Amino acid sequence: MTSGDWASVEERIAQIQLNAFENMGLSPPDILHEFARRRQEIVRFSAARPGYLGSRIPQTPDWDHYIERNLRKRYNVPTPTPFQDPYLYSYLSDVWGYYRARIYAEDAFASDLVLATAPTGRFNALAIPGTDKNGILIEDGLLHFAREFVKLTSEILYVRAGKNFEVVDPGPALQRRIGAHVLQIDSLIDLTLGYLVDGYITPPKPSDFDLDDQPGGDIHNVIFHGFVVFVLEHELHHLIAEPQGLHVLPSLETSFDAMWQTFEQDVIPHLSTKVDKEVIRSLHAQHQEEILADYRAMNRLLALGRIDHLVWPLLDGGMLFFHMAELIRWVTLKIEDPERLILEQKIDGRWLTISAILHQESHPYPLLRRSGVIARTKAHNVPYAELLIEREKRLIQLFNAIRLRFNQRHQDLPLPQHINRKWRIAEKALFGST
Ligand SMILES: [Zn+2]
Repeated sequence: MTSGDWASVEERIAQIQLNAFENMGLSPPDILHEFARRRQEIVRFSAARPGYLGSRIPQTPDWDHYIERNLRKRYNVPTPTPFQDPYLYSYLSDVWGYYRARIYAEDAFASDLVLATAPTGRFNALAIPGTDKNGILIEDGLLHFAREFVKLTSEILYVRAGKNFEVVDPGPALQRRIGAHVLQIDSLIDLTLGYLVDGYITPPKPSDFDLDDQPGGDIHNVIFHGFVVFVLEHELHHLIAEPQGLHVLPSLETSFDAMWQTFEQDVIPHLSTKVDKEVIRSLHAQHQEEILADYRAMNRLLALGRIDHLVWPLLDGGMLFFHMAELIRWVTLKIEDPERLILEQKIDGRWLTISAILHQESHPYPLLRRSGVIARTKAHNVPYAELLIEREKRLIQLFNAIRLRFNQRHQDLPLPQHINRKWRIAEKALFGST
């Protein structure tokens, strides 16, 4: 960040938002126009399906207390910057308020965390540290994309059993379920392509897949909630020095030093790269930190699930983050750099780790983040580790089926030529380059 230490978190967020929208070709008046267009869409959906804004969570009666269902009131919440989508802001604030009250003290972070969204073109959030306040800024299409994605996948991964839901086991049972839900798989593919090409996903339409009015509530909201909390908690790790995890994390320094030593002695001498060794070292450290942030976020979901007796759908939400990010990256490479995709499929995890660093990626590839979390969970003998791995098999099976279907469909159907430019902008462009 070089835009000056004097800027407040809100000013820095406004600058990032402005840069991000400008990268998409939108001027400040266009941005407001875009927010108005999005608002019209939500108004239409709400009229078509009363209760559309409700996102009831089973077994959590006080949810209603935190989530504003009145659209007018939701649009009256003052936003932290002029370039903030009001709907996304009030929704995120509501989810965060609910979560904060359950897992932290009611007033913790109440005034010192600024939530925001912007079209950053990164399937992620950004932690923005400040002196008196911190900020978390989320890619603005991500929330609607995730909500719709989760809605479609929950139909496949869970089956209704009376008032409750049961998990579909990996293997033949899930395969049958996938076979009976080809329409949903196709919608997942269209949704992913739409997000990549248009750069934004409109809020999910009320659809036949909604279970909102059914007894037992709608499980997709719990899974989606897990997804959002995972993203926020990951960023909190970067913002808060004290890990506050349920399990004591090993000293990052010790494990990092050992890994770096191997890397420096055995790997770097064999690489022909122009990237400076110090850059490699700092990226290596940064990537380790990302895995720790993921681990912290999964632990937080576990804690929340224990309070609400909703452990598994919440953990599914966290794990789905990685699978969705992986799918986004896979489709991106298919369109923009198919040779690199073919090459990456031939190399194993260790080389993928190095490849991400040499490409100066800010995060390890999602595949490695996912396996990093599982490995760490197993190493710490967390009580739920074995079950998590068992559950994870369902997600692997489902996403393999999505990729298979994608390849079948696009044997004849041409792929889009390019994805939206926001996905290709350099990090510098977001923060300004002076
Ligand atoms: Zn991170």
